[in-house]
Amino acid sequence: MPARVTHHRLPPEVPPLTFLAGAGRPVVEIVDLAVIGGGPAGSSAARESSERGLSTLLFDHAYPRRKACGGGLPVKGIEWMDAPEDAIECTMTSISFAYGGTKLKVPVKNGKMVRRDDWDYYLLRRAIEAGATHVKEKVKQLERDGDTWLINGKYRSRYLIGADGVNGFTRRHFLGPIPREHLFAASGYYLGLKPAENEVEFILGAIPGEEGYLWIFPKADHYNIGYCYNAGTPGMKEALEKLLHERWPGEFTNPGRYKLASGDEVDCIRFGSAIPSYNDPKLFDEPVSGDGWILAGDAAGHVNPIHGEGLNHAVLGGRLAAQAVYEEDPTLFEKYWREHYAHDMYRAAKTKHRIYRPFFMRIGFALGRTPAVFGLLSTLTQGEYEGKATRAFYLRAPLAALQVLFGMRHRDVRTLA
Ligand SMILES: Cc1cc2nc3c(=O)[nH]c(=O)nc-3n(C[C@H](O)[C@H](O)[C@H](O)COP(=O)(O)OP(=O)(O)OC[C@H]3O[C@@H](n4cnc5c(N)ncnc54)[C@H](O)[C@@H]3O)c2cc1C
Repeated sequence: MPARVTHHRLPPEVPPLTFLAGAGRPVVEIVDLAVIGGGPAGSSAARESSERGLSTLLFDHAYPRRKACGGGLPVKGIEWMDAPEDAIECTMTSISFAYGGTKLKVPVKNGKMVRRDDWDYYLLRRAIEAGATHVKEKVKQLERDGDTWLINGKYRSRYLIGADGVNGFTRRHFLGPIPREHLFAASGYYLGLKPAENEVEFILGAIPGEEGYLWIFPKADHYNIGYCYNAGTPGMKEALEKLLHERWPGEFTNPGRYKLASGDEVDCIRFGSAIPSYNDPKLFDEPVSGDGWILAGDAAGHVNPIHGEGLNHAVLGGRLAAQAVYEEDPTLFEKYWREHYAHDMYRAAKTKHRIYRPFFMRIGFALGRTPAVFGLLSTLTQGEYEGKATRAFYLRAPLAALQVLFGMRHRDVRTLA
């Protein structure tokens, strides 16, 4: 079911509060809400709150900026992510999963890739059009002063939403940083070659026994390739270099430039960052809101711990946070995010260690390539792991097991050289 956020308009008789800062000092307006960070979570929150009639400041110093990201819009929740056609870089035609010499390539209909600089800027503009004021300042100071927040010593707001990304200022201020053992390290290259086809590839088992994957994402005019593994995993960079050189033989001539075997030289620009990836579901028990404040998106740790998808929860989480502020009780956010997407988070945190185990991978791929189960994989790529899909899987599993015994494969399964 698509998440529904009901819009209520603020009654017009509620004026923005004002604050007289003392004799001879300027009158400082107290806005209803300050949102720190103008990524998908923050811009969505600022837009939602402005549309509901709250006076809103949206702080982000970094525009224009390109956030390190694969830019794959999660299929689950695509309808709430507000990515219009002109923000879409390309539409994926298939998703493939490769492991131990087998590649399962599944056609997809609804997958979209965005360029983060364009899409994020679009979301920021939507927030501004809705009435939010963009303050191009980095937030470095935050104080509680009575019932208001004092930001950078000069802006005042009644409520605050922290959406400044993984281990940003607000996360550290309210809850402390997410420990390294609960982070993915994600890094890669923008490789300046136009993709031959719009296939999204996940390569599993590149570092045997480790939790994570390599990816190759198609973009309009380049590939986005990278790794995503538990922070500190040895061999991540080497695994990515191996993939790059095997797929596109060549060498770096300078940082950011790559000479292909054909003699052509293309951009190959490095990017990287961390992604929350809770390795223990208990971390999701910790409240991410309190007296006058809420954290949303990566700042709240709201990313799927198995694969690191966070864009859907950033957008929805931002909007739900704004709804809680509109209702004058930030702690309502706990109820809202738990109703909408906590189930996915807990389940992913619980199953992450099992899924990446080589034993499970082997079983999964052995069953996945059978004619009985292959057709179900497209449901999994929609992010639907439960209900009908699970029942169908259990019904077909005995037949699939027989097909494994007889070495039967779906006709579209490829063996890698
Ligand atoms: C390499 C990589 C690949 C990824 N690929 C995917 C993918 O394909 N699909 C997917 O769903 N997810 C992906 N993710 C995760 C996704 O990028 C995040 O979940 C998402 O960006 C979170 O959005 P956000 O708004 O919470 O934070 P961010 O997008 O990080 O935005 C935070 C904003 O806060 C601003 N800011 C920071 N500090 C301050 C401050 N002190 N004051 C004011 N502003 C500040 C920053 O400038 C930034 O604009 C990837 C992550 C990485 C690192």
